Amino acid sequence: MAMIKCPTIHLLLYVLATVVMVVVADLQRFKHPVKADGSVRFLAIGDWGRRGLYNQSNVAYQMGKVGEQMDVDFIISAGDNFYDSGLVDEDDPAFFDSFTNVYTAPSLQKQWYSVLGNHDYRGNALAQLSPKLRQMDNRWLCIRSFIVHAGSVDFFFVDTTPFQDKYFTNPEDQIYDWRGVLPREDYLSKLLKDVDVSLKESSAKWKVVVGHHTMYSAGTHGNTKELVDKLLPILLLQFLTSGGGSKAWRGDINPWNLDEMKFYYDGQGFMAGEITESDIVVSFYDIFGNVLHKWSASGNMHSAW
Ligand SMILES: [Zn+2]
Repeated sequence: MAMIKCPTIHLLLYVLATVVMVVVADLQRFKHPVKADGSVRFLAIGDWGRRGLYNQSNVAYQMGKVGEQMDVDFIISAGDNFYDSGLVDEDDPAFFDSFTNVYTAPSLQKQWYSVLGNHDYRGNALAQLSPKLRQMDNRWLCIRSFIVHAGSVDFFFVDTTPFQDKYFTNPEDQIYDWRGVLPREDYLSKLLKDVDVSLKESSAKWKVVVGHHTMYSAGTHGNTKELVDKLLPILLLQFLTSGGGSKAWRGDINPWNLDEMKFYYDGQGFMAGEITESDIVVSFYDIFGNVLHKWSASGNMHSAW
């Protein structure tokens, strides 16, 4: 009997290994050209699609001005792209009313890299992911999780909404579009594996993680326990292997001893970033175009520690 069992077990292990390898290759990757000096400049927003209302147009106007001054290379959208419940379908006029006809400044006619937020999952999530939207406005690119290589920085876009237990266990009167996400545990473990492997494989000087939900936040939503429990360990692992400190997530870090940045953005207004081989500078703008906060870090200073 034992002679018969052994080949079965080996076959099972082989299949599992094959499945893992397929999973590893799953995150889509894009290479974005950078400036001649190797620097990359971008704007980032989240929580925006309100048909121009609720200051969306004001923010868009300021983005246009800052985008021109900086000559940005692309724009990042961290989700909640269309309120209140995402898009109805690919032909939903909200796509034009909240995106195409709002971000009209010449400097914003660049590639947009977008992920989904929880409000996007309340509508037809697949519609936002559809290539048909890209045909209607070629700036649009929305994928659940993916990677953008841009010079000395790798951006890891992570689909954070499915990590939130409450949307599954207590959706209240909301209906979420979980097509492509179920079974949830499989989806999450696959995603974590993908991100983990990709972070480890990345040889970029800077690694930026973009997601819709904050990991640690002083805001009303507070910390996102599921992200801390599930996503943080793999990021920390990567963090430690890179030789930096690990307290950046806690908000009490001295940024000068980092040679990486881990960033979650989920705010009003917008953010502008410039990353070179040696430095990263991030500015937070309000709806009037004032810089509320500026944060910078130097990768080179790490070598002094
Ligand atoms: Zn949200």
